[in-house]
Amino acid sequence: MKVTEHLKQAKGTLFSIEILPPLKGKGIRSIYEGIDPLLEFRPSFIDVTYHREEYVYKHRENGLLEKLSIRKRPGTVGICAALMNKYKIDAVPHIICGGFTKEETENALIDLNFLGIDNVLAIRGDAIKSESGFTPEPDGNNYAIDLVNQAVKMNRGKFMDEELMDVSPTDFCIGIAGYPEKHFEAPSMKSDLKYLKQKIDAGSDYIVTQMFFDNKKYFEFVRACRDIGITVPIVPGIKVLTTKKQINLLPKTFHIELPDELIEAVEKCESDKQVKETGIEWCINQCRELVKNNAPCLHFYTMGNSDAVRRVASNVF
Ligand code: FAD
Repeated sequence: MKVTEHLKQAKGTLFSIEILPPLKGKGIRSIYEGIDPLLEFRPSFIDVTYHREEYVYKHRENGLLEKLSIRKRPGTVGICAALMNKYKIDAVPHIICGGFTKEETENALIDLNFLGIDNVLAIRGDAIKSESGFTPEPDGNNYAIDLVNQAVKMNRGKFMDEELMDVSPTDFCIGIAGYPEKHFEAPSMKSDLKYLKQKIDAGSDYIVTQMFFDNKKYFEFVRACRDIGITVPIVPGIKVLTTKKQINLLPKTFHIELPDELIEAVEKCESDKQVKETGIEWCINQCRELVKNNAPCLHFYTMGNSDAVRRVASNVF
């Protein structure tokens, strides 16, 4: 079932999660062990992130460095198929522009379609870690909107080779990313919202937000979206803060701000055990307010910490 159908049929705020594929070499069991404790909250859908290649340097015997391209977390499509098969829960694979030609994207979407996966989250992806900016493949998609356009075309039965006869259109529900605190490359919030609206006008069905720790940012973002005519559901992305390190790491990695009240509370903690309790309490309050204000769904970035998500969910749902 499509994410938008789940949202339409919901009688209240839904629960959903995002997981990361395991590091290469690890088995799928770690994924199941992360999901099993959350099943009691009946996740409506499970997003599986996509991780592009990274460059690593290896020392060769002759003293030179060898540059290698590796993907540390492959398996997005396989995990989605396994989750749908094992749990009968809708899986939402993330598809990205980076590292794919348009033809490879088309073939990946065909694979998803054959597997019965009718949801995708279409995003650009970040630059390769060692590169300063995002560079698309020579024949690849440049922005998330290009990916949306490609999926929408396939939904209308238009493939890259326009001479194909008797094609079966796909039927993807297309989610996209939105940033309550602005995407870090955007020169202004207004500019970012303009491109967000373009992605919606191109045929995206719903928005999932970057994580935020101050609900005011989400409420203002939703209002700003509505003001420019974006009417689709806007699903808040939620992260439970669990370690002291994260008060620096999360803003640096995700280009977000933490509220001073939360930073001060974390700084007073003497151990990560205390930080986790503080983070859980903060998140419970955040989620309760979002539910009270009719957020369509709470989408948890589990990031390998299902226990914290379970503790929050059991106080909210
Ligand atoms: P875009 O919508 O393409 O926007 C990128 C930037 O370009 C923005 O600043 C925007 O304002 C601007 N822009 C957009 N369109 C245009 C245009 N036509 N002309 C000029 N400027 C334009 N990354 C991964 O690698 N894998 C994942 O699985 C993943 N999942 C994510 C899930 C969520 C919910 C979120 C919020 C992010 C996720 N990311 C993931 C990170 C994401 O790839 C990065 O934030 C990326 O830098 C931007 O992606 P986007 O789809 O928002 O890009």
